[in-house]
Amino acid sequence: MPTPMKSSNNLHAIYVYGQPLGVECKGCGRRALDFADRDLDGFRADMRELRTLRFVCSKCGSREWAGWLFINATERDAWIEGLIVSPVDRSRPAF
Ligand SMILES: [Zn+2]
Repeated sequence: MPTPMKSSNNLHAIYVYGQPLGVECKGCGRRALDFADRDLDGFRADMRELRTLRFVCSKCGSREWAGWLFINATERDAWIEGLIVSPVDRSRPAF
């Protein structure tokens, strides 16, 4: 299962996990990957907190979001494809 972002997580965590940040809109449940086109090595020792990042949902306009961390590409892909259900849309986990 993906790891829910904690308020203490920073950009360095993205480097440690080695996968883009999962961003899920709390308004409509839209999911996206941030930093997917970035070299994540650049986030090493970057202590900026993830919760300070600003996202606006392109679907509903909400600025409230939940972050997810992935340990590998399989987990990341399952999440973006909606195979992993999160508490945001109040559904039960798919597995
Ligand atoms: Zn939305």
